[in-house]
Amino acid sequence: MAEVFRGVFTQQLPIPPEAEAAALAVLRSGRLHRYNLAPGETGETGALESEFAAAMGARYSLAVASGGQALALALRAAHVAPGDPVLTNAFTLAPVPGAIAGIGARPVFVEITDRLTIDLDDLAAKLPRARVLLLSHMRGHSADMDRVMALCGAAGVRVIEDCAHTMGARWRGVASGRHGLAGCYSTQTYKHLNSGEGGLIVSDDADLIARATWMSGSYMLHDRHPAGPGPGAYGTTMWTDPNLSARMDHLRAAILRPQLRALAATCAAWTERYRVVEAGLAGAPFLRLISRPAEEDFVGSSFQFRLPGWSAAAIAGFVAACAGRGVELKWFGAPQPQGFTSRYDHWRYAAPEPLPQTDRVLAELIDMRLPLSFSLEDCALIARILCDELSRAAAKGAVARREAAE
Ligand SMILES: *Cc1c(COP(=O)(O)O)cnc(C)c1O
Repeated sequence: MAEVFRGVFTQQLPIPPEAEAAALAVLRSGRLHRYNLAPGETGETGALESEFAAAMGARYSLAVASGGQALALALRAAHVAPGDPVLTNAFTLAPVPGAIAGIGARPVFVEITDRLTIDLDDLAAKLPRARVLLLSHMRGHSADMDRVMALCGAAGVRVIEDCAHTMGARWRGVASGRHGLAGCYSTQTYKHLNSGEGGLIVSDDADLIARATWMSGSYMLHDRHPAGPGPGAYGTTMWTDPNLSARMDHLRAAILRPQLRALAATCAAWTERYRVVEAGLAGAPFLRLISRPAEEDFVGSSFQFRLPGWSAAAIAGFVAACAGRGVELKWFGAPQPQGFTSRYDHWRYAAPEPLPQTDRVLAELIDMRLPLSFSLEDCALIARILCDELSRAAAKGAVARREAAE
């Protein structure tokens, strides 16, 4: 009988007992707002910022309400103004162009490669059009950051990294988020730390963090930011920049601190699962794995592969067959946005220019979550089901060349 997987692809691990105890202490204190501190108290939020800055090797850190808010605040703090173009890779999640458009700026999408990372030739061609690149390390795939930074540096373009899927990852030993002007992270439930909602910014730039802190809603209380710059960095921001109320509270910070201490182990556990799926799919027919360069120390919290040459109908059939056996896949080629999955040409408010190379990659791209609630045996079973359904699709002759099918 055909094997069926019973796990739930959206099920993360429970919040650890240590975090539960810390959260309870915050609840019992009644002091949940980050600036509500007893005399001499640092508070969970300030402590989280100090510990996160240290973990990422950054001078400053600011905790905020979400990853999307982290991106929007970093862009504004980097002096991106309404109407300004902002370069961003076309393969990303909707909050990234959303952060750009939300501050009145204009996303300019850059093509991606077969490795799902920003295309450096298209980037080079588009660099003269903008002063900021918001680079999203989508699904944990890192571009050649040495080349990205060299190109952007030569063009005077500043880089803000979206590390929603790369917290804990490195490129040639440098932590993701530490290549450019600022790194932005999410602590939303499906990311590498889980506080339901939440975000973090790191930077060595005092002006950027001071302005982001002010705009996050610090009132006149920036002395309560142990991982922020001194009062001298605040300059005129309090007269020129709005309060956007995007703070993190002590409850979320309390939940995050124990998880942050376990981040390296968590990331290793994810990548172990990724490697089991990858090994299980090695040699599978009609499928292409995404290559992972040696410089990339990635976190395997999700898995992608391509189905080159498959017709849209064959891919839809394969996804449905896998779903029938409990393996939940996302397809980036679907004509309509589905669940969390949408594509650059769905973001019509951004008036996207056509990107034929990205279209070709996304039309064949399959995406799968790998929550830590799955055991290594679960991952092996998932790979067996995928291989089995690939063989069935082939046997049915469903894997016609796309041209033949259309
Ligand atoms: C989740 C996500 C974000 C935004 O994070 P939120 O905390 O949900 O606002 C940004 N970029 C990418 C690639 C994401 O997956």
